[in-house]
Amino acid sequence: MYLPIEYNQPLFRPPSEANSLILQVTLGCSNNECAFCEMYKTKKFTVRKFEEIQKEINDVANLNVSIRKVFLADGDAFVLSPKRLIEICNEVRLRLPSVQRITAYALPSNINKKSNEELKQLKAAGLKMLYIGVESGDDEVLEMVSKGETFETTKKALLKLKEAGIKASVMVLVGLGGRKYSNQHAINSAKLLNAVQPEFASTLVLTFYSGVAKYISEFKGDFQEMSTKELLEELQLFMQNLELEETIFRSNHASNYLVLKGQLGKDKQLFLKQLDDAINGRQGLRPEWMRGL
Ligand code: SF4
Repeated sequence: MYLPIEYNQPLFRPPSEANSLILQVTLGCSNNECAFCEMYKTKKFTVRKFEEIQKEINDVANLNVSIRKVFLADGDAFVLSPKRLIEICNEVRLRLPSVQRITAYALPSNINKKSNEELKQLKAAGLKMLYIGVESGDDEVLEMVSKGETFETTKKALLKLKEAGIKASVMVLVGLGGRKYSNQHAINSAKLLNAVQPEFASTLVLTFYSGVAKYISEFKGDFQEMSTKELLEELQLFMQNLELEETIFRSNHASNYLVLKGQLGKDKQLFLKQLDDAINGRQGLRPEWMRGL
């Protein structure tokens, strides 16, 4: 569908927002420090003017098409004040009445800066879900990759969302700490998810877009690159430690070697069997992503 919006590139969105209208309410990421992330390195963080966003919403509204989902970009749209976010959500719902849900990426610290009451107001304004790159539940690993968050800040933020009725889709990065920190990364990441019981969870595999040497230079520890088998074993340990009740789980991002899709806890044993088969060569992996066992 043609959209009368000139996007500031590069533009990213979660896979499940493929059919959403994307509105860039900020450009870049206010943190932009994470060692593993190069998404917004070419952009200077900017808050866009409300009038510019309003014009884009109006231009789309004039197309008279039915839009059900809106995703607020860029990387860290939730850094905006509750007042500004509510203003944007209200404009969306006023001009695009078919919209049923508004979502965005969010850093835990930006959730924690908002009061419970403000989060409830955001939910009432249409903000139904946030995507949170948890990355790890291990404080040492989070520190080494300069995430700027901890187990506790992330747990607090996710519990606040639950209290406000805003759904959470969380992402964990397999291989983030390398071989040396693999066990603590897997176990503490599972512990974090168990403590918050998110509605959606997914795993991505750490990918070195600019080469492993660059990642090592930014990693504040002893990073040892893992083989495909070791990455699968880390995912297995993570899975073994998960005690989720009703979380939709996906590992179908292009970075994953093995696709797992289902609900945890119901499908935990099935996932463990698939992982065991993959580790022992009884199940094929995505050939294009093989690093060598
Ligand atoms: S906060 Fe998110 S978007 Fe920003 S640098 Fe870190 S991972 Fe990338």
